[in-house]
Order: sequence, then structure tokens, then C-alpha cells
Amino acid sequence: MITRREAIKTAALTAAATALTPSLVAQTNSAAAPTPAAPFSLPDLPYAFDALEPHIDTATMKIHHDRHHKAYVDNLNKAFDSGPLTHLPPIETLLGKLPATPNPAIRNNGGGHYNHSLFWQMMKKDGGGEPKAELAKAIDGAFGSFTAFKDSFTKAALGRFGSGWAWLTFNQGRLEIVSTANQDSPIMGQTIAGCEGTPLLGLDVWEHAYYIKYQNKRADYVAAWWNVVNWDFVTERYLKAKG
Ligand code: MN
Repeated sequence: MITRREAIKTAALTAAATALTPSLVAQTNSAAAPTPAAPFSLPDLPYAFDALEPHIDTATMKIHHDRHHKAYVDNLNKAFDSGPLTHLPPIETLLGKLPATPNPAIRNNGGGHYNHSLFWQMMKKDGGGEPKAELAKAIDGAFGSFTAFKDSFTKAALGRFGSGWAWLTFNQGRLEIVSTANQDSPIMGQTIAGCEGTPLLGLDVWEHAYYIKYQNKRADYVAAWWNVVNWDFVTERYLKAKG
């Protein structure tokens, strides 16, 4: 069985020949190719802006999705503006194959686009509670209990200085709690993100995610956020990652 680490290494080798920077894209695509529409687009929220009230307020959701996430998408597309875009891989593949010293525009905006696209789905109206069945067992096995998991995840979210994310990941057969700075994602791997694995659940702890309603009180935001977690989505990702 190929471990994720080996898979990343293999991917890195193949990526050496793959266009991942604007200049390489320009060099490897035919000049005659037509320029298609922007390759990355802002996904709709899977629910109304007010669906997560009162835990996440409507104004925050609107600005967070329509302005912050949109800016990541626009700037990611701009990073590829210099050449035809027909050979760009999906965002997940792109981020999984970043070179050790990535183009910051692609790292930051690509990470922002990918992380937020997941984040919206990791929440839902009337969410919260606890996971069931296989994921519940796995969380108990890895952390002792759901309460212990929640405490550790909350610590990771509160302990991230400045902007970033807390994550529950599936990494080489194990559930792990990690955090990343800025818009780094565990799928970028150890060298770039300081952790690796498939993100199952993520929490945005940038101030833009909570400042309107919670001001500087990140702990209140994190406590409220547990009420909107979409455990069905997290479980789906867990089962898929586990294979
Ligand atoms: Mn955000």
C-alpha cells in the first residue's frame, strides 16, 4: 500500500514536469490555444446566508462568502492570468503538488479557495451534536471521548496565534488534530503546512470569520460553532479517506 507521504513524493516528482506556476503554464501550453473562462469559480453556499443563525450571523456569512472567498478565487485566477489555462488541475490536485517553495499567490489564494469551499460544507442549519457510528468510534479510539476530542480541537483553534485554521485530519490511517497558519491546508503537506493529511473538519479562526458578532472573543465563536457542524459531511469525508 502506498502511504500518503510516498504518494506526495511521487506526486512531487511528476509535478516537476507539470505546469504549476504562471510562467510554466505559459511555456507548456500552445500559444494557439483559446483562453477559456477563469478556471476557478466561487461555489454557492449550500444554504441561505441566515441558515447558521444565531451561531454564525448573516452579515458575517455574506461578507465571508461574497467578499473574502470571492477575493481568493479572483486572485487565484489572476495568478494564472499570464497564460492559457486549459491544463490546470483541480484545486485539490494543484495544492497537493505545490513545489517546496510555492508561488505565494497560489499558496495563499489557492489555500483560501480550497479551505473555504470545504468550510461551507462542514456546517449546516441545525447541525452540531455528535457524530455517529464509525466516526464516533474512531474519535473515541483516537482521543478517548467526544468531549476530549472537542477540548483538544478547541485548544488548537484558540492556540493558533493570528490567522489560520484548526483541523481534524485523517493522516496515514489515524485521526489527528492540527492547525495551520494563514490559508495553508494539511493537503499542502509537512514542508509547506507543517502537517499533512486529508482535512475532515476545519474551523476558520481568521478574525473575518467572527469579528462582526463576536469581536475579539474567539472562544465564544468557537463554542457557538460546534452547534453548526455538519457531521454527515465530516463522516462522508472520513469514510472516503479511510477507503
Ligand atoms: Mn475565512
